[in-house]
Amino acid sequence: MTALLPVYPRLDLRIVRAAGSELFTDTGRVIGDLYGGHAVCPLGHGHPELTAALTRAHSTLDFFSNSVLIPGQEEAANAVLGGSKHLAHVHFVNSGTEANESALHIARRKTGRETIVVLEDGFAGRTFGSLSVTGLGGYRKRLGAKPPEHWTRTIRLNDPAAVEAIDDTVAGVLIESVVSLGGVRVPDSAWLQAIQARCHDVGALFMFDEVQGGVGRLGTWFGHEGMGVQPDVVTLAKSLGSGFPVGACVVTAEIGAWASDGELGTTFGGGPMACAMVETTARLIREGGLMARVGELYARVESGLAGIPGVEVRGRGALIGVQTPRPAKDLQVALLARDLLVGTSGQSHTLRLLPSYNTPFEMVDRFVAATREVLNA
Ligand code: PLP
Repeated sequence: MTALLPVYPRLDLRIVRAAGSELFTDTGRVIGDLYGGHAVCPLGHGHPELTAALTRAHSTLDFFSNSVLIPGQEEAANAVLGGSKHLAHVHFVNSGTEANESALHIARRKTGRETIVVLEDGFAGRTFGSLSVTGLGGYRKRLGAKPPEHWTRTIRLNDPAAVEAIDDTVAGVLIESVVSLGGVRVPDSAWLQAIQARCHDVGALFMFDEVQGGVGRLGTWFGHEGMGVQPDVVTLAKSLGSGFPVGACVVTAEIGAWASDGELGTTFGGGPMACAMVETTARLIREGGLMARVGELYARVESGLAGIPGVEVRGRGALIGVQTPRPAKDLQVALLARDLLVGTSGQSHTLRLLPSYNTPFEMVDRFVAATREVLNA
C-alpha cells in the first residue's frame, strides 16, 4: 500500500544520495548515472555552485509572483537567449509541457488558426494541449477528451511530402530538435529548412520543442543552431534549471511586439530560485566548455559500439540512442545489474543515454564494455 498515486512503472532502485555522475543506494551500491535524472542534470548532481546559488536566492528573496519584476529574471532571460540573433524574449514557466502550452497558445492566438502540424512520433507533454499534439500513440490514447480532429495534422520526420500538410489553415508546426522518446532520430537540416520555408510562405509559426535537446545538450546552446534554421518559437525545460522545475518559451521580437498584458501567465514561472538556477546553469555550461565536451561523449559511445551486428548509435551530443537487437528494457536491467543506469524510449529496441555533460569518460567506457559483454560482442 502506498500513499502515492500508482502511475509510475518504477525501477527497483532506492537512491538516497547523488554526487556528480554517481548515485548511492540504500544498500551501499554506487551506480553510474548515464540517464542524468532524465536529461535534467547537465552538470551532474549536487554541483556546489548550484547549491550556493539556490541557497543565496532563497535567503535573499524566497518568492514573489510576477506582479512585480523579480530580481534575477532579466539576467536569467539574457542567459537563456545567449546572444541569439533572432530570438528576443523569454516567458518562464515551470515545466516542458507548460512551455509547449505557451507555444501552442501563441501560434493559435497570433494566427487566428487552430491546426498544429506535429511529428507522428513526437512527444510534447502530459497536459491537455500538449498531449493533443503528441504524435506517439501510447500517450495520445490517454487523452481524457478527444480534441477536435482539425487540431492536429501529423507528418513523418524527414518525409519530403510533409511540406504539403502545411497550408494556410495551419497555425504552427512543432518539431523536436531530436525526436527523443520516439526513438532518438535527428531531423535532416535540408528537410527542416524546407519546412521552415513553407511555414513562412503560408504564415504559420515554425516552432522547435527543445525541452530535451536545448540548453547545450546537442553541442550548441539551442539545438537548432546546428541545423540551419531560425524557429519563431523555441521551448526549453529539463536541463534549464539543473533539477529546479523551470521551463521557458523563447520567441522572436515579432512575437514580442504582438504580445500584450495578460496574454500568458503563471504564479511560479520565473521565481527567484528558478532564475538563480537558470542563470548559474547557463554560466557553468558556457564557462566549462561543456557544449564542446558532449560531442566527445557521443563519439566515444559511437566508436565504442561500432561494428556490433544490429547495433546503431543515433542522436547528437548528450542525447544518445542505441538501437540494439535485444529489447532495450532487458539491456537496461542487465546494465543496472552492472551498476550503470540508462534509459529506454518509446521504441522497444532503443536505449537512451541522457548523461550529464561532464560525465567522466571512464564511465562511458564502462558502459561500452558492459554493453559489449551483455550483447556478447
Ligand atoms: N517535450 C519533450 C521533447 C519532452 O521530452 C518532454 C518530457 O519528457 C516534454 C516536452 C514535457 O516536459 P515536462 O515533463 O517537463 O512537462
